[in-house]
Amino acid sequence: MKRFTWLLIIFFGVLLCVPAAEAQTLNDIQGHWAEGHIKQLETASVIGGYPDGSFRPEANMTREEFIKCLVQVLKIPVSGPVQPSYQDVSSDTWSYPAIETAVAAGILVPGESVNGMLRAGEPIPRAEVATLIIRALKIPVQSTATGYDDGVNIPASFRGYIRASKDHGLMSGYPDGTFRPWNPVTRAEAAVILVRLIYESGKGKGMVTICYDHGAASVFENAFPLHQQYNYPGVNYVLPPHVGAKGMVNLEQLREMEGAGWETGSHSKNHLHFKDLRDREIRDQLGLSKEWLQKNELGYASFAYPFWFDTDPYPVVSEYYESAVTCFGKVVNIPPANRYKLERFMFDGGFNDTSINDLLDKTVVKGGWLIFYTHSVAKDNQAAANHGINQQKLQYLFEEIKKRGLKVVTISEGVNYACY
Ligand SMILES: [Zn+2]
Repeated sequence: MKRFTWLLIIFFGVLLCVPAAEAQTLNDIQGHWAEGHIKQLETASVIGGYPDGSFRPEANMTREEFIKCLVQVLKIPVSGPVQPSYQDVSSDTWSYPAIETAVAAGILVPGESVNGMLRAGEPIPRAEVATLIIRALKIPVQSTATGYDDGVNIPASFRGYIRASKDHGLMSGYPDGTFRPWNPVTRAEAAVILVRLIYESGKGKGMVTICYDHGAASVFENAFPLHQQYNYPGVNYVLPPHVGAKGMVNLEQLREMEGAGWETGSHSKNHLHFKDLRDREIRDQLGLSKEWLQKNELGYASFAYPFWFDTDPYPVVSEYYESAVTCFGKVVNIPPANRYKLERFMFDGGFNDTSINDLLDKTVVKGGWLIFYTHSVAKDNQAAANHGINQQKLQYLFEEIKKRGLKVVTISEGVNYACY
């Protein structure tokens, strides 16, 4: 019974924070100055509209709404205590799980409340938003000067947080140089702050993914052992009819790599250029390859475009896969990134040590996600095939990744962390 009540609470909490119907788009944000930010959060299922389809960007955000979104944005695992931390937030309140999670994470401090009350349904003032986001990011607070013209009127306990929110570009003041700590925060303003928070939280936490397109046998023979040595997972994008063919990986090898933490994805069925195909043929390319992967109990979450589309491919790919990577991309993905437009770098003979180092440095600084792909891996320092590398080069990459403390992830792991 108790467990059932908890499930109900979580269920209704989710309903209130995300749109009721997935297909429904918000009907009152078009042309609004914060439209882009609101859409990013909506896609990430962090913020949603009301049952009538409106978002009400100019309405004030309540404390509990903001806390719920904050916990979701930072993906803090929900936890709850035995006893409610606030007298006016009982365990059957929809926002109770998020509020107690924030307490457990040290974002909310019940001892600071007046008479043990949170007043969860009231508008949250700017000074409190600054406090909660800086605590959530675990940014040390030092300065007591806010850097705003009305700083002397701001209670000392808030000043450091407000200063930190300014220094990290999370919140800014009014054109007249004031911060106005007691002004409520509108839902549109909160959306902007939450998107900045996503960027900020990604800093210094760069990730790298190494993908292999086409499924050459050399991936298993020459790349896999090196990955094992470093405990780095890789990603295989295969063309089903090629699996088990001469010079290509076979099913058993793909499974062995998955067993070691690798991921398998689709590289379409026949590697045709989608611009030459009709809609139904594109669906075959996407659907049949997924079916094959599923049938053989391999991963099937991600898709690698065989070529780029002429038009935006995202809507149709999203019907079959949870994410997709490009072939001709050339940027480090910065969170929050679109999970269907992940950019990759081709890692082949055209890549020298300097360009590898530059990219990895950029990934560290930006807290980005760098995705490499190549086709085959020659032994030792032997000449690499077209669109391929050799073990020596791969090892160089691994050493540079290790030096920088970058995390090596599969596409699914990266998407969970960095994408909307
Ligand atoms: Zn390809």
